[in-house]
Amino acid sequence: MDTGLLIGLLNPTIALALGTVFLVLWFYQRHRPYLAVLAASYWLSAAGFLLQYFTLPIGMAPTKLLSNLCFTIAACGLAGAIVTRYERRVPFVAIGVLASGGLAAFCWFMFFQPDLTWRILVMNFAFGGLSLVVAAELRVVRDKGPTEMILFVLSLLSGLNFFVRTLVIVIAHGPYQSYDGFYASSYWTTALLSHALLSLLIALCLFCAAALDVMKALKAEAYTDPLSGLLNRRGFEERATLLLQHCATAKLPVALVLADLDHFKALNDLHGHAAGDRVIADFAAKLLSAAGTSGVAGRIGGEEFAVLLPLSDLGAARLFAEAIRTLYSAGSIDGLPHGTRVTASFGVAARTGEEGLEPLMRCADEALYKAKRNGRDSVQLSHERSETVLVVEPLKAAEHPAPSRR
Ligand code: GH3
Ligand code: MG
Ligand code: MG
Repeated sequence: MDTGLLIGLLNPTIALALGTVFLVLWFYQRHRPYLAVLAASYWLSAAGFLLQYFTLPIGMAPTKLLSNLCFTIAACGLAGAIVTRYERRVPFVAIGVLASGGLAAFCWFMFFQPDLTWRILVMNFAFGGLSLVVAAELRVVRDKGPTEMILFVLSLLSGLNFFVRTLVIVIAHGPYQSYDGFYASSYWTTALLSHALLSLLIALCLFCAAALDVMKALKAEAYTDPLSGLLNRRGFEERATLLLQHCATAKLPVALVLADLDHFKALNDLHGHAAGDRVIADFAAKLLSAAGTSGVAGRIGGEEFAVLLPLSDLGAARLFAEAIRTLYSAGSIDGLPHGTRVTASFGVAARTGEEGLEPLMRCADEALYKAKRNGRDSVQLSHERSETVLVVEPLKAAEHPAPSRR
């Protein structure tokens, strides 16, 4: 086997391996179809390279056309997949015009006015154009993170490679008359090596992006309560701490509402655990829609919820809690006998200085405890400064044990 062929087999081998890895990734993440498109694109480019060396019985010219068709579809797939991964709209028109224009020109210089040099130029310009279309799309997201920036630079380099390298080499060493000795030419050798390098780097970046996607999804899962869809205690604490820091920097008021469903144990005993679950999910949905996108809502215990409200003082947070309390106690819940009333008690505290989450939680919890003592289905405010450590009077605490917290 000659060295040229060995170098020639470098690209299909790399492309097949990368395509297979993308396929495996897609098997584990079926909801990300761009991974399947990447797998197909890399495999098609492998087929394109192999067809450059092994002529099919259909003849040399149709085999070359088939090879370039594989390259073109692979380039379109790669461009579309990268753009989709970064949540940009795929520029179908630009991709379609470049791909079909390149192939049409290739056919012209293959079948009507045969000219190898022009075939090289038109196909490279089409691929260069596709690379620059991807770069233009990534320009908008390049500051989002390192993978975005690296992919943007790689698309630019790929564009330059297709335009500048091709022109320089064709001018310096061309024109090319036939395929005799072509695969040992400086054009083909630099094309193979630069393609191998760029496709490896692009694939590494995309692997990195796919791994980041998985990590993000795992983190979201670890921070989400599956029953209510709200943040769990851990997620709530992290997001609420960030929001408190932001409000402290921007000097914005912020308030905390704690809610606890009343007599929930009795509801479970009477209607069953599944009905109890539905009540939790229903309450959470109402809380979430009321909190909107600016508030942070979480299920911080079994039947206990917290909402951190930016731009809210004690009065505004009280109105928020009252609105949910009335809405909830008046409504009916699917699956529970008609007329069954489920109520909740609320404790509200507002930040007075720059204190963190813990003192705020303590104040709101104390207010919630008061609401429970006062007969439940009510909203109580904490008028304590939340920096102070609250001490529950031992006698009262013994008489009225605090509602259990998970
Ligand atoms: P209070 O009005 O004082 O808050 O009384 P309560 O019965 O609501 O409070 P308690 O702390 O005594 O009981 C809470 C109950 O919530 C006990 C537990 O079985 C139930 N619970 C906790 N998590 C879940 C859950 O995920 N699903 C269901 N169905 N019940 C839950
Ligand atoms: Mg309760
Ligand atoms: Mg409770």
